[in-house]
Amino acid sequence: MQTQSNKTAAEHKFLQPVMQYINGAFLNSDQTFENINPYKNGRMNEVAEGRKEEIDQAVASAKRAFVQWGSMKIEKRMKFIERIAALIDEEIEEIAYLESLDTGLPISQTRKMTARAAENFRFYSRMVQTKLHGESYAADDEFINYTVYKPLGPIGLITPWNAPFMLETWKVAPALATGNTVILKPAELSPLTANKLAEIIHKAELPPGVFNVVHGFGETTGAALVAHPDVKAISFTGETKTGSIIIKNAADSLKKTSMELGGKSPLIVFDDADQERALDAAVWGIFSFNGERCTANSRLFLQKNIKDSFIAKLKERVQNLVVGDPLDTGTQLGPLIDKAHCRKVRDYIDLAKEEGCTIFQGEMPEELKAGNFVPPTLLLNARNDMRVCQEEIFGPVMSVIEFETEDEAVELANDVPYGLAGYVWTNDLKRGHRVAQAVEAGMLWVNSQNVRDLRIPFGGMKSSGIGREGGHYAMLEFYCEPKVIHVALGDHHIPQFGKRKGS
Ligand code: NAD
Repeated sequence: MQTQSNKTAAEHKFLQPVMQYINGAFLNSDQTFENINPYKNGRMNEVAEGRKEEIDQAVASAKRAFVQWGSMKIEKRMKFIERIAALIDEEIEEIAYLESLDTGLPISQTRKMTARAAENFRFYSRMVQTKLHGESYAADDEFINYTVYKPLGPIGLITPWNAPFMLETWKVAPALATGNTVILKPAELSPLTANKLAEIIHKAELPPGVFNVVHGFGETTGAALVAHPDVKAISFTGETKTGSIIIKNAADSLKKTSMELGGKSPLIVFDDADQERALDAAVWGIFSFNGERCTANSRLFLQKNIKDSFIAKLKERVQNLVVGDPLDTGTQLGPLIDKAHCRKVRDYIDLAKEEGCTIFQGEMPEELKAGNFVPPTLLLNARNDMRVCQEEIFGPVMSVIEFETEDEAVELANDVPYGLAGYVWTNDLKRGHRVAQAVEAGMLWVNSQNVRDLRIPFGGMKSSGIGREGGHYAMLEFYCEPKVIHVALGDHHIPQFGKRKGS
């Protein structure tokens, strides 16, 4: 088994400055910011910082490119999309390496995410060729109404630092495949793979301006993108409070928005469930991706009579988790994205103590304690009304809450502002369906973990979002505008206003 990622191919690249990609060219900016490695907190490279001027240039180029890209023959456009997928496949190792370096996510996980990123492009190529069509309604022999779906124009995509490459392609693939042009504003904490995506798209020879990347900060670069009058829509993934600011700012120019926001998802284990499988799912669901995962099961609900035995096994798993260098293929939990986020997660653990939880943590090598690491953590004896059970911690921290009845489990699961995902474990088929129907979340998994089928809608309700990504939902409802065309088939009556009688 390979124990260390292949660094040589990528090593030299992260030392180069990251540039903007505008109108098919890599450009520097007057100002730059530092990109920091989360494992050692050392400086990696400089990133060109775009502001309003760069956003203006990128939007102008996207607007020009839309004229050709939006009306290109579908087969021709899809050749570009499939070329992007093939190029990602060729560079999985390098992309995964850059992603782990930039985010601290374990390389064994970033490799899989990168493969999924390529699949996002292939999936939307197929989807556009088979499902991008409207409907027709005939009214007797007098009329026919039909709908066509048209791309919107330049679209702004604003993305977070957790799983950046995969989440960016999740938006870029449907946006480009449907004929829109794109300005991507990646998270300032994870610019490397967005830069890599620009290199791949450049290599795939997409026409200049179809895809642009402007790096920078949210309040400046992101806000300029949201405010730009020629940007037709904003697809955003990130924190709930940022989403709310973006919706307010987008209202001035009446932009369409899609919001994929935070979560505080429940995983409910009933006493008749397959305990071992439920345990696998609970551990994976909170500790993979360093716990920095929107759909993480950060609240574990255990039925009273299995609680103690389940917790005993859970503790054993937590103790066995391998915490370490994200570039080591044996690592299961890496460092959190940066010092500030690590502080925030540690503060929540302190708060949990104050709120009355018992803390149980896994082992962590001594030398890692100074870094951005938080050991895998269980908040035992938690109550759902505690702040640590109501607010998104976004780290490897899971609250464990007891329940007695099905009704109580559902009530507690729903008693949060969020509604992104939910997981139910029971061998009672009827109960599985009942609970899945009752939990207020956009996505429910019964006796399963977070398996993603690209055809299904992904997204949340309540404070977890507005709209859905994935499948034909994103394609037709967000990235396209339906247009109705009404055609008279004969000479039907039209009111003759202002016409003199007899004339
Ligand atoms: P964030 O909201 O801090 O930042 C996300 C992006 O928004 C960044 O690119 C940032 O620069 C930009 N931004 C910030 N302020 C802005 C503004 N005023 N105008 C325009 N852009 C602005 O989020 P984060 O910390 O990067 O990501 C973590 C969050 O993302 C968590 O809450 C997580 O649950 C959520 N998330 C949700 C999903 C989902 O599908 N629902 C998926 C992944 C992550």
